Amino acid sequence: MLSFSKIIFTALVVIVVWQGFKLFNRAKQVPKNDQPKQTRSEKKSKAGSAPQEMEKCPNCGVYHAEGFAHRCDG
Ligand SMILES: [Zn+2]
Repeated sequence: MLSFSKIIFTALVVIVVWQGFKLFNRAKQVPKNDQPKQTRSEKKSKAGSAPQEMEKCPNCGVYHAEGFAHRCDG
């Protein structure tokens, strides 16, 4: 009985440590992999000529780049 609970306790500790390590690794990786990528693409789209924001034409409903000359086709 005592040894059984000891094994369970050990397994629980191992699982908790393992999960904690996994979470710690993930929390460490996410800001490193995701955030610089997002800010970099944001900067790129802002600096480049790629259309960043789309605007819906109130007349024909066509989406076009904001500030871009748009002609409605009847
Ligand atoms: Zn239009």
